[in-house]
Amino acid sequence: MFYNPYEALSNGRWLIGNLHAHTTASDGESSHQEVVDEYAKRGHGFLMISDHDTYASAELYDGIDTDGMILIPGTEITAGGPHLLHVGAGRLVDPDPERQRVVDSINADAGFAIFNHPNWQKRFDHCPQELLESCSGYLGIEIYNGVISRLEGSAYATDRWDMLLSSGERLWGFANDDSHRAEGDTGHGWNVAYVTDESPAGVIDTLARGRFYASTGVTITDIEVEAGHVTIEAVNAERIVAITDHGIRIAQADGASLSVDAPTRAGYLRFECWGAGESFAWTQPILFDR
Ligand SMILES: [Zn+2]
Ligand SMILES: [Zn+2]
Repeated sequence: MFYNPYEALSNGRWLIGNLHAHTTASDGESSHQEVVDEYAKRGHGFLMISDHDTYASAELYDGIDTDGMILIPGTEITAGGPHLLHVGAGRLVDPDPERQRVVDSINADAGFAIFNHPNWQKRFDHCPQELLESCSGYLGIEIYNGVISRLEGSAYATDRWDMLLSSGERLWGFANDDSHRAEGDTGHGWNVAYVTDESPAGVIDTLARGRFYASTGVTITDIEVEAGHVTIEAVNAERIVAITDHGIRIAQADGASLSVDAPTRAGYLRFECWGAGESFAWTQPILFDR
């Protein structure tokens, strides 16, 4: 048995969304309405405002002109330890320094938890790997966080992700802006979700099931698992790489498509699609029994 997050994609459409954006309610430079307008202008289909230890509720969103964008209630749990997103929050949970308790509180409330920008800071250790390994019940990590590009550390964390996936964890990789500034912080990273129910609950459920990919500019047009083969097409990719346990590359192709045999001994198979400049798309892992 295996789990293919992209199984039977039908009756929906791909929506782009960022789950990590700050406003003047914490340390961002723009108001809620200005941030919403900025993402709507970029063609995003969903957005979560994630101010530090400040709850963006459905009631708050009621007062905003959404321009058709789906707004997800949430927060960024910041005080006391490594930062987490609470996506689809029903309330503000306590920023307990014991992060397992924060994850448990999130799961007892609504929505899900993501650990943010693991490779931020001088020693690339904002969220230590030991914590990611010992914590349970969170849904994923940010494998790309735009704002870290102009701060210490690395914006990328696919290294952390491969280590976790290799130990059998089922975790999804997210790409987010973490926008703070009015200029230059938006449109760097996003998630492309196959949504059939275009509501906050529908988007949250889609993300929870891994029916999305993370992107900084490359668009995936097809991913299919059939008769032991996995085929992927990404219209503006210049190279596609297939990666399994411990980060091993089992195949790559210079072009917009790649077809590989499903691995027989690996626990996961994921794809990186590399485009022009510094643009990528990262699929979620297709999970196999080892
Ligand atoms: Zn943060
Ligand atoms: Zn943030």
